[in-house]
Order: sequence, then structure tokens, then C-alpha cells
Amino acid sequence: MRVLVTGAAGFLGSHLVDALLAEGHSVVGVDNLSTGSMQNLQHLGQESHFEFVQHDICEAMDPGPVDYVFNLASPASPVGYMRLGIETLMVGSVGTRNSLEIARKYKAKFLQASTSECYGDPVEHPQVEEYWGHVNPIGPRSVYDESKRFSEALTMAYHRYYGVNTRLARIFNSYGPRLHKDDGRVISNLMTQALKGEDLTIYGDGSQTRSFCYVSDTIAGLLGLSRTDEHLPVNVGNTSEFTILECADVVKRVTGTSSRIVFRPLPQDDPIQRMPDISKAKRLFGWGPKIDLETGLRLSLDYFKASIAATV
Ligand code: NAD
Ligand code: UDP
Repeated sequence: MRVLVTGAAGFLGSHLVDALLAEGHSVVGVDNLSTGSMQNLQHLGQESHFEFVQHDICEAMDPGPVDYVFNLASPASPVGYMRLGIETLMVGSVGTRNSLEIARKYKAKFLQASTSECYGDPVEHPQVEEYWGHVNPIGPRSVYDESKRFSEALTMAYHRYYGVNTRLARIFNSYGPRLHKDDGRVISNLMTQALKGEDLTIYGDGSQTRSFCYVSDTIAGLLGLSRTDEHLPVNVGNTSEFTILECADVVKRVTGTSSRIVFRPLPQDDPIQRMPDISKAKRLFGWGPKIDLETGLRLSLDYFKASIAATV
């Protein structure tokens, strides 16, 4: 296949490119480098089956015939999408439309990277795909939440009105090598702080929960979903739920740091709990995560060390 990946220079996008190339496909990667980095693609060197186009997907583009479109372009960390609020809303609307138009034009299959943020601060736990969520449509996180919810609505509309063969992956917190050390996400912050011997910042009292999925598991989930004909949303995430304080304990163990924990104010609308129900993914394509948090953090250790060393 010839595959288009938007957001290819990002954390997940670059790993998806690697996985698609390893399967023998040709890949066109598009990215405007707003939160991604060419460093994530550097290892591809002169790889003849990979082509990179630096482009803002909010501007229409024609990559030529493609068989599959994976639409991952969007800032994804709270710090990133709050800095780029308007850009985030635009990429989830205009950018997703342009990506869907490419799929429509070339009769390509389409997968939209959606998010657990569609559930907002969920009152149902764990989150099943049928849950409509509990989202503040005007709060500081709304630039991301509503962008992604609009992307989902648009994707379903292109499926219903134009017959585009679409999929919606609701991805939960993922981590691993190539997660930008300064993007403000909890794993990036805690790993970087621990390795530098700085205080570990916990927002609120640290009792809020997240369920962390190692990048290879997330990518396997996206590829599994890409091969089904399921058009309704499917959760892709790990079902092991940690409080943020427990997460900090695992980071301390893995890094061997003697850093102290310090408490900082909880950001507005920060979800209290997050855990996916993944029975749908299991049933549809036999998928489930294989890597637990401690193992995944150990697998990420060298990357964070190198990333810190490169900037001192
Ligand atoms: P990331 O910021 O590392 O990657 C996103 C990429 O999109 C970046 O390289 C960025 O430069 C690019 N981009 C942004 N706006 C663009 C535009 N207008 N045109 C072209 N490229 C643009 O983030 P990530 O963690 O790799 O997330 C990838 C996708 O997965 C995002 O859509 C995100 O919403 C989704 N997602 C990620 C997670 C996670 O935990 N990592 C969880 C849920 C959903
Ligand atoms: N968090 C924290 N310390 C940090 C960064 C984040 O305690 O240095 C918390 C944040 O308030 C949230 C959780 O960790 O409750 C996950 O935050 P992240 O930004 O990784 O992603 P989110 O799931 O909120 O989108």
C-alpha cells in the first residue's frame, strides 16, 4: 500500500511510520513541525519508501494516489494544545476535512486518531465507547476536546454521506521513546525531573488517575483497528489504572532518583479518572496491551537520558 500519515514527525506518528515501513508499505509523512520534530524521523535517513512533506494540513494538499490515510496531525499534550489553541481547533476541523477529502478522492481507507478526551471528566468508569462523555465545551481544554469531537463527527459524516471507509481510534494516554521531554505531559515531566534530580511535580493531591499505554501497544492497536471495518469509535489504551502519585512511585523506582515530590495546583477541568474498557478492541481484532507501566518506563529510560544529555 501507499499510506499517508499526517502528524508523521510526532511521537505516535513517527512510530506508526516505522511500523508501516516494516510491513513493507510506502509512506508519505506530512507534518508542519508545530509540536513534532524531524529528529523523530532522522533514523529513516535515505529510506526509499519514505517521503516527507513539510506542510500544514489545514492547507489542502494532493499527495497523489494513496490507499490509506492515518490522520494523526494535532497538538496532543495539554501544554501544547493550550499554547496552540486556535491551531488545534483548526487542525481538528479544517485539517481533518482536508485529510478526509484525500481519502475520498483516492477511495482510500481512513483512520482518525481520536482521544479519551472525548469522554472529558468522565462520570462513568471505566469508559466504554457508547459513553457520550462529560465535557466542558468552553473550558481551557475545550480547544482540544471539541476539536477531536468535531473530528469524530466529521469522520462519521464522511462515512455516512460520502461512503468513505473510516475508523475512529479513541487513544488513551500513551508514552515511550520520542515523547518530547518538554511537552508537559506527566510521564515526560516526571521522567525528566527524576533524571535531573529535580522535584517531581504532582498537580493537585495526585489522587487523579490515568491508564498509561506503552507506544508499541498503542501502535499495534491502531494497526489492528485499521484492518477492521468498524466505523464506530474503538478504545485503544491500557486497563491498568494508576493514581498520579502511584505513577510517580514507579518513576522513582525505575530511575532510582532521590527527588522529592512537590504539590502544585490542579489545572482546571483536569479529569479525575481515566480508564478504558477495551473489550471491543479485544473482540474485534484480538488486541490487548502487553507492556506494563514499569516495563515501559524502563524501555523509555535510555531515550529520556539521551534527550536530556542532548540539551545540556
Ligand atoms: P505529537 O504532538 O507528538 O504529534 C502530533 C504531530 O502533529 C506533531 O508532529 C505536529 O507537528 C503535527 N501537527 C500538528 N498540527 C499540524 C498541522 N496543522 N499540519 C500538519 N501537522 C501538524 O502528539 P502525539 O502524542 O504523537 O499524538 C498524535 C495523535 O494522537 C494526535 O492526534 C493526538 O491527539 C492523538 N492522541 C495521542 C495520545 C497520546 O497519549 N500520545 C492520546 C490520545 C490521542
Ligand atoms: N500531571 C502532574 N504533574 C505533571 C504533569 C501532569 O501531576 O508534571 C498530572 C495532570 O494534572 C493530569 C495527569 O498528570 O492529572 C496526566 O496529565 P497529562 O498532561 O500527561 O495528560 P492528560 O491525561 O491530562 O491529558
